[in-house]
Amino acid sequence: MNLNNLKYKLMAFMQSRYGPDPMYKGLFAVAMVLIILNLFVRSSVLYFLAMGLIVYSMFRFFSKDRARRAAENQRYLALRDKTKKRLLLIKNRIRDIRTHRYRSCPSCKTTLRLKKQVGTTHVKCPVCRNEFEVEIKR
Ligand SMILES: [Zn+2]
Repeated sequence: MNLNNLKYKLMAFMQSRYGPDPMYKGLFAVAMVLIILNLFVRSSVLYFLAMGLIVYSMFRFFSKDRARRAAENQRYLALRDKTKKRLLLIKNRIRDIRTHRYRSCPSCKTTLRLKKQVGTTHVKCPVCRNEFEVEIKR
């Protein structure tokens, strides 16, 4: 078998396979973090979890069920974006801890950033125009 033949066979093998996607990269990144963490913690649970993630990401990579893998990836992306937003909110709350308070609108659930003013404040939501009272204790 010459090299071109091998290349052709590899291409034919990969043609109907799903290949890499953001979820594949995410799974690999988490597995790498677990492996590095395991250098310090030395836990077989972490080790098998990391290996499981790598096996699962390889399974997805070589899978022929492209539609199902794409749907998984969409769910992964939604979860990733939601997590990013939550982390950003936590980061901002810590950054603004001296000057602002974050409260969600009881009507539309939008998180509002309010100037820290101890006592009860009348607030009008800029998104849904709902008016409500906010109590800031400290
Ligand atoms: Zn609102």
